[in-house]
Amino acid sequence: MRIVPRALALLALLAVAACSGGQKAPSASPSPAGKTRIDVVTTFSTLNSFVNGVGGRYVRATNIVPVGASPETFQPTPQSIAVLNGAQLVVENGTGIDAWVDRMVRGADVPRSRVLVITDGMPVVGGNPHLWMDPVLAKTYVAKILAALVRIDPAHEAAFKKNAIAYDAKLDALTAWIRSQIATIPPARRQLIVFHDAWPYFAKRFGIHIVGSLVPAPGQEPNPRRLAQLVTLARKLHVRAVFAEPEYSAKLANAFAGSADIHVVTDLYDDSIGHRAVVHDYLSMMRYNTEQLVRALK
Ligand SMILES: [Zn+2]
Repeated sequence: MRIVPRALALLALLAVAACSGGQKAPSASPSPAGKTRIDVVTTFSTLNSFVNGVGGRYVRATNIVPVGASPETFQPTPQSIAVLNGAQLVVENGTGIDAWVDRMVRGADVPRSRVLVITDGMPVVGGNPHLWMDPVLAKTYVAKILAALVRIDPAHEAAFKKNAIAYDAKLDALTAWIRSQIATIPPARRQLIVFHDAWPYFAKRFGIHIVGSLVPAPGQEPNPRRLAQLVTLARKLHVRAVFAEPEYSAKLANAFAGSADIHVVTDLYDDSIGHRAVVHDYLSMMRYNTEQLVRALK
């Protein structure tokens, strides 16, 4: 019976690949080593993981937002615009989080047909762009990147499909592992306060209650009245922890934790992977986050 979900996943991949034909795509350019690599530019580092997962040695993936910085507060520079020159594929998350890349694409010599906006047509809820935080939805990221790479470099279709199926299997294993880890937290404790609203898709998938976030979006000022309400709510619900993010100062989270009398976990990763080996790509980042959650809430 194990064969059935795999076969379905393969069919889904093929269907996505088949639907996206018809556009004239740029062809891959040979690298100095004589190998062919597709130049892919992703807006931020998490997306890079999916491109490398599918493209493997046939892609050269560069991200515009540096690792450790946030796409939500990013300001393009002349250097970041230069990264786009020669891009054969630009991968954008969409739903607003990296909308600045559209202006960059218009300014650079990149036709619009080379831009893949991943969340187009995906089940976006309330305009929230963080769909990759659900590893099940991440499979759609993989499928869309697969279709785009096959269009650019059909000669390596078999390799891309093989990679995509292998990456999907890793996402399935990740999903099952996260589920098993969350199951070790007593149900009443599966609730948390996050720094910004990056966690609804993860929370929905794994049955966690996000009691609130300290700021509506990075770069926005916290609303004192809202924070006071959140402190009351945290005390009332016996929320155990507030989670800060390495991209942002932990000052606000520390102040909040003091008022609500709960503890702070300083690093959850969402909009960027990290520099450390334990969070160097999407899969490791999601495992690390889960370990942090379990340790703080258990
Ligand atoms: Zn975010």
